[in-house]
Amino acid sequence: MKKSAAFILLILLVASISFTSCVRKTRVDLILYNGKVYTVDSSFSVQQAFAIKDGKLLEVGDSKSILGKYEAADTIDAKGNAVYPGLMDAHAHFYAYAMGLTEVDLVGANSWQECVDRIKSYASAHKLSPGQWIVGRGWDQNDWEKKEFPDRELLDKDFPNNPIYLSRVDGHAALVNQKALELASIKPGQTLTGGVVEMKNNRLTGILVDNATGIVEQILPSSNDSAFLSRAFQEAQQNCFAQGLTTIEDCGLMKQQVDQLDSLQKAGLLKMKLVVLLSDAKSNYEYYLKAGTYKTPRLNVNGFKLYADGALGSRGACLLQPYSDKPGWYGFLLSNLTHYDSVLSLIVNSPFQACTHAIGDSGNRMILQAYARQLKGPNDRRWRIEHAQVINESDFEWFGKYNIVPSVQPTHATSDMYWAGDRLGKERLKGAYAFKKLLDENGWIALGTDFPVEDISPFKTFFAAVIRKDAKNFPEGGFQMENALTRMQALRGMTIWAAKGAFEEKEKGSIEKGKDADFIITDKNIMECDPQQILQTKVKATYINGEKVFEAK
Ligand SMILES: [Zn+2]
Repeated sequence: MKKSAAFILLILLVASISFTSCVRKTRVDLILYNGKVYTVDSSFSVQQAFAIKDGKLLEVGDSKSILGKYEAADTIDAKGNAVYPGLMDAHAHFYAYAMGLTEVDLVGANSWQECVDRIKSYASAHKLSPGQWIVGRGWDQNDWEKKEFPDRELLDKDFPNNPIYLSRVDGHAALVNQKALELASIKPGQTLTGGVVEMKNNRLTGILVDNATGIVEQILPSSNDSAFLSRAFQEAQQNCFAQGLTTIEDCGLMKQQVDQLDSLQKAGLLKMKLVVLLSDAKSNYEYYLKAGTYKTPRLNVNGFKLYADGALGSRGACLLQPYSDKPGWYGFLLSNLTHYDSVLSLIVNSPFQACTHAIGDSGNRMILQAYARQLKGPNDRRWRIEHAQVINESDFEWFGKYNIVPSVQPTHATSDMYWAGDRLGKERLKGAYAFKKLLDENGWIALGTDFPVEDISPFKTFFAAVIRKDAKNFPEGGFQMENALTRMQALRGMTIWAAKGAFEEKEKGSIEKGKDADFIITDKNIMECDPQQILQTKVKATYINGEKVFEAK
């Protein structure tokens, strides 16, 4: 080889080495590419890919540039599917929902056999291990053809290894099985004051009356038992992850409950991110107003939940004019004005938010005015009205003037629409569930479900907000469509605006550089699909801080 040829070869070799070192990729933990990524950033841009490092979004862009710049052992080909920020429910009852999952609902069962069937399906759905308790509530033999107390025989046959405790609808009697009798050391012939351990033909029937129920009640698993709690919350969060929820705002907890959630999160047993509104209780104010807000990577104790009035269905909501279907009846406030003023004046001088349940137009007016007295004018305290259900025409402007955040639940509109007109009459109904009007006032709105009052599905929220119909596709044309939100507004309400409602918009709620890598992949694209397909949308996978917490089978 000639000298000059060798020299050229050498140059080429050096050039190729420096070229490869030039494109050496940055190592990250996870890359998603080939998606239709709704970033929900300020311009609502749609991207294709992102890179994740240490649980945060490192860069968002098109697939070519992200794949060209980064490499990761773990990659997701989204195959063109829609990707959204993890969904947030701005108003729910996560703790109560989890506790509800630990019991079998026997209310309304038409026979003893139906009770047994419900217990069987509960047991198979929850994959009970031997020794695990089954607790049910609400049976009533007066609803059955054979109006006699049931007997433990069927329970013993089907559940020899699981203790069972089923309390009657009034709580004054319970049926237990053999396993529970053993654990409670209840013997035939046992007597006690103020209670009966029922016997028939010298055999314990399993029926315990009044004080006798207490013998078993005291050995039931309870919220003081951390293994029991952990099981309940894991099941609850799994159901939520399967629906794409990555943050839930739990409205109305006591300090002890907050501490339980905190320790489960710290132990890695609870991955759901939670925002907590504290109950309007003296002990909560005493502790938290001194201690201040509480924030960890997954928990944010940031506000107090007050109650103005009750609900519209039970006519507890407080109205300015009498109920249309109950002459002379206005409903009522749950506390007197001095209570709201004194509590709000404490909160306004603290870092906490005030969030108040208000349903009726009178309840809403009273709270809007009480807020205004403290807030005095434009502000960024983000005090919220939960539900903001019935608003008098002249009161909408308070939301705008005092930057009061409407925190609403679109499925309440489609659940209540069947009878809300009876309670309110035609005229007042126009100011009810007026989400668009509320959004126009404050400029943004937080969406939630209020589960377990409603179903946990955020897709039902989206459908009810945008299409204003229920799952039965009623009513044709939608309910009061002038107050429908656009798909973009609804998605913002379930992500970035929900986060903003808890002062968390800098860390979550959109797919943007620097934020927590909370995102979901769905099989249908709710931003573009036919309205009929919205409710059929399935979550394919859910990620929190870049960790996969759910994947559809
Ligand atoms: Zn609620």
